[in-house]
Amino acid sequence: MARYIGPVCRICRREGEKLFLKGERCFTPKCAMERRAYAPGEHGRANQGRGDRGESDYARQLRAKQKARRVYGILERQFRRNFGIAQQKRGLTGLNLLQTLEMRLDNVVFRMGWASSRSEARQLVNHGHFMVGDRRTDVPSMLLKPGDLVSVREGSRKSPYFRELRDIAEKRTPAPWVDRDLASLSGRVIRLPERSEIDGNLNEQLIVEYYSR
Ligand code: SF4
Repeated sequence: MARYIGPVCRICRREGEKLFLKGERCFTPKCAMERRAYAPGEHGRANQGRGDRGESDYARQLRAKQKARRVYGILERQFRRNFGIAQQKRGLTGLNLLQTLEMRLDNVVFRMGWASSRSEARQLVNHGHFMVGDRRTDVPSMLLKPGDLVSVREGSRKSPYFRELRDIAEKRTPAPWVDRDLASLSGRVIRLPERSEIDGNLNEQLIVEYYSR
């Protein structure tokens, strides 16, 4: 499945804020936003501090959409598909979109604390380390629903990563909408997240406007 394979910190520098795409490194002085907090490229530094002066509505909508896409680590086609799913649901399309993105299997694995970042979670899922219910799956884009149980596959528990995972995951706070059980290396989605439980820096209204042009 297609994914972005370019430099990750460049994305944060482009968006002008920390998007926490690299797990533990994001909390250290090695973070690129701590050292070079300006846009990448030849003129990035020269444009530093210009803010969004003179930015068109379209530019703001595009940036909002790109940021959300990058936070969840997905490409345009899949993001648009998720938007289509959100549109078909009842209620606010923007909130539906964020909830749909949160219900992706790779995001749920990350929210349960089984990985330090969404990209790491995606790789673990890709390698077939997780079960949803009693079925093994290697599809990070799989959409879960309340009640679904996610667990580490029996055969994966012996690997060094998963042997140490209980101690590591204990230090990570799971999202309030999942019920995690460290002892059994599993967790259940108990409900959809509320807006306040999803990254506040995302502007779903601008994303809806972008796709409604
Ligand atoms: Fe972004 Fe993390 Fe890289 Fe810092 S270390 S620039 S927060 S991905």
